[in-house]
Amino acid sequence: MKCNRCGAAFEVDAVAAVNTERNPELKEKLISGELFVRECPQCGARLLAKFPLLYHDPAEKLMIWLSDGSADTEARMQAAVGGEDFAGYTGRIVDTPGALIEKVKIFDAGLDDISLEVAKFVTRQELGKDVALLFFGLDGADNEITLTYPEAGQMQLVKIGFNVYEDCAGIILRNPDIKKSATGLCRVDRGFVEAFLR
Ligand SMILES: [Zn+2]
Repeated sequence: MKCNRCGAAFEVDAVAAVNTERNPELKEKLISGELFVRECPQCGARLLAKFPLLYHDPAEKLMIWLSDGSADTEARMQAAVGGEDFAGYTGRIVDTPGALIEKVKIFDAGLDDISLEVAKFVTRQELGKDVALLFFGLDGADNEITLTYPEAGQMQLVKIGFNVYEDCAGIILRNPDIKKSATGLCRVDRGFVEAFLR
């Protein structure tokens, strides 16, 4: 990669896979973002590196691939989850480390990412703002959901009630085609839900 401060080019030691059973310590580093931070050998700048990575949680039957966007990489990803060993798996593709971290948090919170994307869609409409919302966490006895979005150089928080999420989960239940189109390895993001809800 190339340092965006001094321009030095250097090799990045990539992490190819994080298996939550075999490498729980790597999962911690992934969630904190540290897994993706590399120091420039010339000027010491801390940079966000990007490399293809497989996140695999065997207990949850969950695979999330961080793609580099190349067709070759994605063909390899599709081939890897094609076998019978992966029957019953949820498979996702994401394009940024931030999106990968968000997905892990969503599934760790026991939420369905499709329903959550619908909840973000609804929340964007309520806010009346075209913003990129990210899941931040669930808190309190009421399971209030916190979403974040960047605005004017700052991270804004927006809280939504769990009932909003439940209503969105209901929409998904009543429209089985939406869930069906998310089988195999696919991107479940803003574009995915907007294709159905527009
Ligand atoms: Zn540098």
